[in-house]
Amino acid sequence: MARFRNPISRTGCLPATDLVFEGSLEINQGFRCVDVWCSIGTYSCFEVDMIVAVVREVLDSRSALIPEAVKKLMEIQGIKVNIEADLSKHWTNEEYQAAGAQLVRNREDLLGGADVILRINSSDAREIAYARRGSLHVSLLDPYNKRELVEAYAKAGVDALSLEMIPRTTLAQKMDVLSSQASLAGYVAVIKAAERLARIFPMMMTPAGTITPAKVFVIGAGVAGLQAIATAKRLGARVEAFDTRPVVEEQVQSLGAKFLRVDLGETGQTKDGYAKALSPEQIAKQQEAMARAVASSDVTITTAKLFGRKAPILITSKMLKMLRPGSIIVDLAAGSGGNVEGVEIDKEIVVNGVRIIGIDNMPGEVAVHASQMFASNMVNLLRHIYDTDRGILKLDKDSGADEIALGCVIVRGGAVVHEGIKAHYKGE
Ligand code: NAD
Repeated sequence: MARFRNPISRTGCLPATDLVFEGSLEINQGFRCVDVWCSIGTYSCFEVDMIVAVVREVLDSRSALIPEAVKKLMEIQGIKVNIEADLSKHWTNEEYQAAGAQLVRNREDLLGGADVILRINSSDAREIAYARRGSLHVSLLDPYNKRELVEAYAKAGVDALSLEMIPRTTLAQKMDVLSSQASLAGYVAVIKAAERLARIFPMMMTPAGTITPAKVFVIGAGVAGLQAIATAKRLGARVEAFDTRPVVEEQVQSLGAKFLRVDLGETGQTKDGYAKALSPEQIAKQQEAMARAVASSDVTITTAKLFGRKAPILITSKMLKMLRPGSIIVDLAAGSGGNVEGVEIDKEIVVNGVRIIGIDNMPGEVAVHASQMFASNMVNLLRHIYDTDRGILKLDKDSGADEIALGCVIVRGGAVVHEGIKAHYKGE
């Protein structure tokens, strides 16, 4: 049945005599009356709750909402939450229900009854068919690299919001899942390396002799890198770091780490705060300059990413041969191609005695806090884009979207609407 999209008003309608019903009334959760038009031709509707549905992740131990977040969403006038049964390994169905969520066992029903579908990872393309036209899909979407999926949403008339595209501004920080998850990834990378290293991190002066601190080198001092630096420092390691954005030097030093200076010529950052891609000559220069720092480190953590593009190779096979056996490298860019030549996604491999860890979903290793932070980002996002008075989502200029929503809505009304993504697909 065709369904009402973006109701003009949340409450009331013209008198019943003026109504012409097309199809049947649909009563979902709360009083839901859609697919109605009035004899004067104006679409309208009765009280409509916006149903937010949360899907169980596949191969990811995190979930997009936790019970506390469900409670917060249910406090917003006009929002109801449905969750897929057994959503999380860390919270029970009963805890979600106690927070106000309705449990739905069948994924098809869950998706078909939703106005907003929340998930961490994007859907399987086949599942788009279950979502109804006009609903909104919210997840990490990787729109630069997943054109087919993005266009499938458009074809199905399902709007799509990409969480990666939320602008990195102060106002949007509370909705920024890249930051919340990267911060945890930086922490886990250090903990994992410390666990694998056959040495301790801190200096120890004991009657049995003095143990020198481990040396940790961090490449890329963005959100994940800075957290890795802070964690390694807390564990007592000597930490050195490098980033192509000169602005980062002070932040690295304020954490008590040393900044490795390399003159690469013009580097800088984009208007969104991301690193600019280096030329092949600059990359070669960087590899050469960092070789000694990598070779003399017990642990190297690489986090160097280029937004929407393949990560640069910064540690070559040749450099790996210079490392001491037993050294650890954690490549946090493994999911986008990797900073280490030969890294294998979601695997730990040993090359010439050097352990290279390429786990992509590091935040999933601390799924409770990762879910908590992700869910909090989702609550803030929905609060920001949902207009409680009108009962609508502000997803385009006409409905009052601001630059945060305009920056992350990729598909709207059956078309790819994001200017940057459109230009990318055209090869501009
Ligand atoms: P990211 O994950 O895209 O990259 C990680 C780091 O790798 C970045 O610091 C980048 O400069 C660095 N890098 C890229 N190529 C490199 C190379 N060849 N060698 C060494 N380092 C390289 O970025 P991110 O961590 O998500 O965010 C980057 C920055 O965006 C942050 O540090 C911050 O300044 C900004 N930001 C701002 C806000 C805000 O609210 N204002 C929020 C989030 C991020």
